[in-house]
Amino acid sequence: MGTEYEGVVAAINDVVEGPIPPRVEQVDNLFGPGLMHIEIQEIVDTMGPPPWSKLLIEDERNRGTLIASAPGQGNHAHWHSDFDEWWFVMAGKLKWELTGGKIIHAQKGDIVWIPRGTVHHIVTEGDEMSMRFAVAMPPAVHVWQEECENCDVTWEKRSPSD
Ligand SMILES: [Zn+2]
Repeated sequence: MGTEYEGVVAAINDVVEGPIPPRVEQVDNLFGPGLMHIEIQEIVDTMGPPPWSKLLIEDERNRGTLIASAPGQGNHAHWHSDFDEWWFVMAGKLKWELTGGKIIHAQKGDIVWIPRGTVHHIVTEGDEMSMRFAVAMPPAVHVWQEECENCDVTWEKRSPSD
């Protein structure tokens, strides 16, 4: 194990010493986190019309959230100080409006990766619901913005939080 990762490894309390069968605790919600197999169509059927989001994967190093939104709907613009975030677009079309006027248009099947420090305002484009699987690193602190530099959407002031 390289020394450059010592700080990260020290943050993991639960280390397995050899191969074992899957340790799966009783999951008290329908879709996880904690499930080994998550069927996306079941989630879509259960959650209904967008907007919605569902935390599916969570451990010391991963926080994976499925997010659905309707055309024109977007997130609250924000940035992260200590991790890069990435998304897998699972349905529809989305636009990432970023610091410095950079715009990314992505569609089903695409992956978008945004480095730490870059503000991201993510809006569904086209005429169908979008779904994206967002992968962040806990505690995934969000630094919220009050406006988007690429469009005229504004938000109430909000303290950093996850
Ligand atoms: Zn983010």
